[in-house]
Amino acid sequence: MNAGLAQAVVGPPIIGVLALQGAFSAHEDALRGLGVDTRQVRTPLDLAHVHALVMPGGESTTMSLLLDTSRLFEPLQQRLADGMPVFGTCAGMILLAANVLDGRADQRSFGVIDIDVRRNGYGRQVDSFETDITVVGLTAPFHAVFIRAPKVETTGTAVEVLATHDGVPVLARQGPVMVASFHPEITPDARLHELFLQHNGFKTEPRSSSTEGG
Ligand code: GLN
Repeated sequence: MNAGLAQAVVGPPIIGVLALQGAFSAHEDALRGLGVDTRQVRTPLDLAHVHALVMPGGESTTMSLLLDTSRLFEPLQQRLADGMPVFGTCAGMILLAANVLDGRADQRSFGVIDIDVRRNGYGRQVDSFETDITVVGLTAPFHAVFIRAPKVETTGTAVEVLATHDGVPVLARQGPVMVASFHPEITPDARLHELFLQHNGFKTEPRSSSTEGG
């Protein structure tokens, strides 16, 4: 029904940030710092104008509900099926996963990356933590902030694990779909946004060498 909207995307690349709830504005800042245009996505019409999407952290159960009430779920599902690049962080990762453990019964996910993830798998808010991780494709470690983070329990063979913490995948990719169980937008280091954009063929502006660290 909404498939026609997907065809309408023309013009210079615009990276959407799902802005129903959660940590979306910091993602916009990170993307703009890389020289790309952004647009907050709240409606099917917003979605029709973007070439890729970032799905932020927040609360996946609330976002699932708001995706339904805003009538975004089906058009977004269609865009994802058409191969639109998407980067899901924390709650965004949950929404993209094939299988959600400890989810709410009515919570929906798009199933576009073959992972099983457990909501709050690292514990509650008090168990939030920070750590440096080594990321495939980056020369210096990335400082990762985990907040009520989902824990990846299984990855399918098509999934590329880009970083682990204590042997558990925390950054993964399957084709145009990239997911992180932490919050890369919280730190002033846009290398993961850059990795996402470059992997999907979007041009970025050279960033300041201060974020590379080596
Ligand atoms: N625990 C949250 C959820 O289930 C995710 C937390 C986050 O995005 N920081 O959606």
